[in-house]
Amino acid sequence: MSHAFTDPLKPLAPERGLFCNRTLNMRAIRAIGYDMDYTLVHYDIAAWESRAYEHLKQRLVAVGLPVGHLTFSPEGIIRGLVIDRELGNVVKANRFGYVKRALHGTRPLGFEELRAAYARTMVDLSESRWVFLNTLFSLSEAYMFSQLVDLFDAGELPMVHSYGEIYELTRRHIDLTHMEGELKAEIMADPERFVQLDPDCALALLDQRNAGKQLLLITNSEWPFTVAMMSYSFDRFMPAGKTWRDLFDIVIVAANKPSFFSTRFPFLEVASADGLLKPVIGPLNKGKAYYGGSATVVEQFLGLSGDEILYVGDHIFGDVHVTKNILRWRTALIVRELEHEIQSSHEVHAELESLAELMALKESLERDHCTRRLLLTRLRAGGYGPTPPEEIDTPEELTAEIAALRQQIAALDEQIAPLARRASEVSNRSWGPTMWAGNDKSHFARQIERYADVYTSRVSNFAFATPFVYLRSQRGTMPHDVAPAPEAGKGVYATNGTRGGLPDSTRPRESRP
Ligand code: IMP
Ligand code: MG
Repeated sequence: MSHAFTDPLKPLAPERGLFCNRTLNMRAIRAIGYDMDYTLVHYDIAAWESRAYEHLKQRLVAVGLPVGHLTFSPEGIIRGLVIDRELGNVVKANRFGYVKRALHGTRPLGFEELRAAYARTMVDLSESRWVFLNTLFSLSEAYMFSQLVDLFDAGELPMVHSYGEIYELTRRHIDLTHMEGELKAEIMADPERFVQLDPDCALALLDQRNAGKQLLLITNSEWPFTVAMMSYSFDRFMPAGKTWRDLFDIVIVAANKPSFFSTRFPFLEVASADGLLKPVIGPLNKGKAYYGGSATVVEQFLGLSGDEILYVGDHIFGDVHVTKNILRWRTALIVRELEHEIQSSHEVHAELESLAELMALKESLERDHCTRRLLLTRLRAGGYGPTPPEEIDTPEELTAEIAALRQQIAALDEQIAPLARRASEVSNRSWGPTMWAGNDKSHFARQIERYADVYTSRVSNFAFATPFVYLRSQRGTMPHDVAPAPEAGKGVYATNGTRGGLPDSTRPRESRP
């Protein structure tokens, strides 16, 4: 199958950009390692996760849990949320770890409940209490966890004693679901249903290879699944006579990431098309496929240092956190959700602008309100302090003005509330955008900032950027930096990473004058 010519110089749709946290000169990158699942091969999330959920459910039924009637909702959970094993909640935290939204089981916590549970508790991913949902493969597991919490609270899981146990049970069985052959066999038998093809992905890799970069595939998937997915997704887009194997200097399956990046497991060679394994004697060889192994040996094979190698993956911990922390490789995170998220925020752009205008108006009314209250306070205390230039109002006049302002602010709040709610539902009704939590960056966004040098919605975006691009990070900003002229609404997404002046819609009333 051929694909349309894509002009690399054509301006990209905003959601197909390469977003840069740390400057990355692609010319200085000599080797690129790719993850497969949800990186080179993108799945229909609802289709994949529904099947994973069904297999998980059947396993739980088999061990005696009354879950046969449960159904999966692909919208129920988003990546970047955190499971609280102690309280049986799924939470969304901001960049500092403050919990901004939470579900107990499948029920949203109200403002007071949220405060009671988390006013003194912050999400700290180094504690075993919290489980970060690192990948799109986590959605079915987390949704089942929430549903089991509901059943447990209703007294329908007498064999289970705590929310922690519910988590262990779900984890064990989703793990087995991924490892046993049935789910993968179903996907291999019907890839059209599960895989979303991208013709430009092969093009991106061909360009990089022909620009002199060594390419590697490093996946946790087993050999038969890797062959099935890669040949289905790539061979049709390759030049005549070539297959996906021609793209890579080395293919590594069953890599066991993140351990692959931190330990020294031996390599085995995949010695035949049906996956027969044999020991490796001597160094790795170009064009071969291997099983297991470790990143240190890959570095020796490439003869490169960490900053010349880029690893591209979708798993925040397994693909980018560990590679950056341990090996100092350059990292790129694939975040497909960005496309929907950026498009959705464009759709509500007009409403976000109105919201920002109303918030600016509210701030000025609040300023008037505060000033008058202070004048009244000083008058009542004997009239100390500097005298205002105009004639000062009497205490009675000030009291009336304060009451009028309070009314105006309350009326404004009525207008703000539905718009704020709408802003908090952008992209997902229950959780809002993955990158934002309330008025601040989400914990997910913070992880991306810390560990991914660049992030983008899909690998083919590298084709548009070319293998020679110099990606420069934006100058970081602080709240004290001079903001651009306050044109109406332009402060909606302030450059310092907070949404300037947007209300926090999780609060019952934004402010009480
Ligand atoms: P990668 O993203 O190409 O490294 O491969 C991900 C592989 O890990 C896929 O084969 C998934 O089915 C598998 N996988 C995802 N989640 C789990 C899990 O919880 N336990 C075991 N395997 C998993
Ligand atoms: Mg992956």
